[in-house]
Amino acid sequence: MKNQMKKLAVLIVGLVTVFSFIQCTKAEDTTPTTTETAKSTALVLIDQISESENAAESVDDIIACVYTCVNGMPVEELSEAEVNTLNFMREEEFMAHDIYVNLFAAYNLPVFNNISNSETIHTTAIKALMEKYGLADPAADHQTGVFVNQDIQGLYDALLQQGLLSINDAVVVGATIEDYDIADLLSHITEGTDNEDILFVLQQLYRGSRNHMRAFYAHMTYRDITYVPQYISLELYNQIVGSAWEVGNGFCSCSATENNPLFILQTQ
Ligand code: ZN
Ligand code: ZN
Repeated sequence: MKNQMKKLAVLIVGLVTVFSFIQCTKAEDTTPTTTETAKSTALVLIDQISESENAAESVDDIIACVYTCVNGMPVEELSEAEVNTLNFMREEEFMAHDIYVNLFAAYNLPVFNNISNSETIHTTAIKALMEKYGLADPAADHQTGVFVNQDIQGLYDALLQQGLLSINDAVVVGATIEDYDIADLLSHITEGTDNEDILFVLQQLYRGSRNHMRAFYAHMTYRDITYVPQYISLELYNQIVGSAWEVGNGFCSCSATENNPLFILQTQ
């Protein structure tokens, strides 16, 4: 664990250095060789962070943290809005997971595998809440690519089709899913949700999605793709992709208070 943290710290220092390097070279030196080298290094580093934080081996440990945190918080009255949020998010996180699994199979790009592991944690966190409150799980018999909610089904079909066109389309689909997910999470965080356990989970999902967006942004930058957010504001998008990877797993700290400036900005 200590070694992993050390490794991660080294990676982050490296990443910050590379990002500052790109910032400087963009203005002064745009020769393809220099830019390409810097881009590749940045991409390698962000992939390494994403892999170390979302490794398949750590999924079970993090899920254990999810259950400890969720079940350690008070049982509060559930509003109809909260029930709807849980039903929707349970399948929405599965949609992201299933698309990334398919895109990894198509392109063998590790980022899709790493992030699909993280989405497994996200959808399981919603399941933990549903179990706590005795709600029926719409994804109890989930099969890849099949959803009860028809809006999610439509989105899945369209985004998967787009992602299978080319690897460039696939990374844009990744950004689109995170864009959609962040907008949806923020709408639930800022209105209709007041239970501590649900807010805690949604905040952790929001944090995870910010990191996923940073990972896809690195891939798009490497491929010279400019993404224009469709669901969140350009201001929020720029703040997320322009800030550092948020290290560590929030699910193991059981705190519903979020000091992140991005969160505060959106809820003021
Ligand atoms: Zn997610
Ligand atoms: Zn995500």
